[in-house]
Amino acid sequence: MRSVIYSCEEHVEEALDDWVYGEETFPEFEKLEDADGVWITCGYCKNQAIYMVGNECSDTKYRK
Ligand SMILES: [Zn+2]
Repeated sequence: MRSVIYSCEEHVEEALDDWVYGEETFPEFEKLEDADGVWITCGYCKNQAIYMVGNECSDTKYRK
């Protein structure tokens, strides 16, 4: 199972904890620097997410 959690600054630690609990590995996490104009809501509150937690961001690097 692969999932991605979006979170705001405040909830990034919670997102990391949840991800580790669900996936049992440590996730990649990326700051959404280039998400200008795209509103992604935090999974824990109604603020704008600025982090993406999960392994999809780097997945393609390790695949052929
Ligand atoms: Zn939040």
